[in-house]
This record gives sequence, C-alpha cells and structure tokens, in this order.
Amino acid sequence: MVEARELTYQYAGRVEPTLGGLTLRIARGEIFGLLGPSGSGKSTLLNVLTGRLKRYTGTVNVLGWEAAAAGPGFYERIGVGFESPGFYERFTALDNLRHFRRLYSSSATDPERLLRELGLAESAQLKAEQLSKGMRMRLGVCRALLGDPQLLLLDEPTSGLDPKSEERLRQVLEGRRAAGMTIVLTTHNMKAAVQLCDRIGFLVDGRMQLIDTPQAVMQRYGERILRVEHAESEDGACQVERFALDGIGANARFQQLLQSGRIMAMHTEEATLEQVFGSIAGRVIQ
Ligand code: ADP
Ligand code: MG
Repeated sequence: MVEARELTYQYAGRVEPTLGGLTLRIARGEIFGLLGPSGSGKSTLLNVLTGRLKRYTGTVNVLGWEAAAAGPGFYERIGVGFESPGFYERFTALDNLRHFRRLYSSSATDPERLLRELGLAESAQLKAEQLSKGMRMRLGVCRALLGDPQLLLLDEPTSGLDPKSEERLRQVLEGRRAAGMTIVLTTHNMKAAVQLCDRIGFLVDGRMQLIDTPQAVMQRYGERILRVEHAESEDGACQVERFALDGIGANARFQQLLQSGRIMAMHTEEATLEQVFGSIAGRVIQ
C-alpha cells in the first residue's frame, strides 16, 4: 500500500536532509500514526507520499505508483487533509464541500452525510471564515474523504479538537478502516495515537526510530503510572498521589492507602509523548 525505502529528502538551501534514509511499510487497512517532535519531518514525509515533494532519493511506492511520478488517477485514490486547510472563506462549509466534490470524476460521497459524520451538520451554513480551528480541521477531514479514497493522509487531524470531536473522528476513521481504507496520520497527541492507531512510528532526526503497536511502545518506553485520589481524612479534601505501576504491590505507601479505605478513585495514566521520546531518543521535546 505504502512502501518507502531509503527515502532521503533535502529542502533546497538546507545543509542537512530533513528525511535521512527512511524505510517504512504500511499495509492496507491499517491506521498508521506518525509521531515526532516539531520539525522532525512528519509533514515533509506526508508531502512526499502525496507526490507534492518530488526531489527525493530512494523509492516511495504509494498505491502502486512511484510517488514522484504519480499520474492523475493517483489523486482520485488518495485523500489529503493537511494542517490549516485552505477553503473558500466566503463560501459556507457545505458549499466548500460541494465545490471540491466536482473535482472527482466518480463515486464522490454526499457532502451532507460527511458533515453529519464529523459533527458539523449544524455548521453546514456557516462560512468557512466563521469556523473554529477544530471545525476547520474536521471540514478538512470531510474534504479528504469526499472521493472515498483508498489512502487517507491526515496531518495533525486531532489538533484543536475537543474530546467529543476527537471521539467522533476516531469512530469515522475506524469505520473507514473497517471498509478497507488505509490511513496515515501525524499527531502530537500520544493519547489520540494510542487510541486510534494500529501502529505508530517515531520520527527522530528524519529517521524512523521505532515502529510498533501503541501498546508495545507504551509497555517498553512509557512509564506507567497509577493516579490515586483519596480523602485525607473522613471529611477532608481530596488528595492526589501517583505511583509507578511497576512494583506497586511492594509499595508501602500504596498498601497503606489501600488499607485506609479512603481511596476515592484510581486511574492509570498514559505516558506522554515527551516521556516516550525521552526514552527512545534520550532527549526531551519542547
Ligand atoms: P514536522 O511536521 O514534524 O513538524 P516538517 O516536516 O514541517 O516537520 O519540517 C521538518 C524540517 O524541515 C524543519 O526543520 C523545517 O524547518 C524544514 N522545512 C519544512 N518545510 C520547509 C521548506 N519549505 N523549506 C525549507 N525547509 C523546510
Ligand atoms: Mg507538521
């Protein structure tokens, strides 16, 4: 579906390549998440996959095409939702989708259905310029889905989304995956990546440092934490303490809390992207 080998990309005027010998394989029907610090090359990689950046070395096979030489049929089969998507600002959300639908020769999806799916039905008559960042992002996803693509590429689709919209997006993407769509997305949001993706790849300095399932990554690199809320005394205020899950059974303070009967709630916490990066790359991201 997507296969890159020894992909190197250097922007004109740059001393170092942004992507340095990257190898990657994404199967049909997979949701693949690209993670990495700001500036690590995530958007560049997506732009190579869409055929927009052509002056790379190595091979990049996308849906059977070499990305740099992709023909018109290629653009009928991929859907692209990038950061700060450009819309006709004076057109309504719905009219934007109707306009972009005309660019597809066949099987274009009903724009109103897409707006409903992404929770934008009530915003259909708002002008693009009136939409919030999160709404624009969702409208961008609608646009990317218009042609019912085989491959969907989304750059930071969860940015600006509230938890409810994020959940809705997750349902939409999972539905498309079930229908065989392949999805590649970038995100800064470790929680979203864990919930959404079948596999995640970590870009560090333009190389794919690690590719695995989110669960395996969290197990290997994420510090798993149990957050315990307890009442300090019978009528006291709520206090929060955190314990590392590893070895928690032998933790005297945790045992003491368990026996006190004052625990109100316990939750495991996801490792943050920062923590995982700290472990993988030995460095902290901004
Ligand atoms: P990410 O999406 O992971 O934040 P990008 O792919 O946008 O990273 O950028 C990777 C690197 O390439 C950065 O150092 C950035 O400054 C550089 N870069 C991005 N676009 C251009 C461009 N058009 N010309 C020169 N350098 C660029
Ligand atoms: Mg980016």
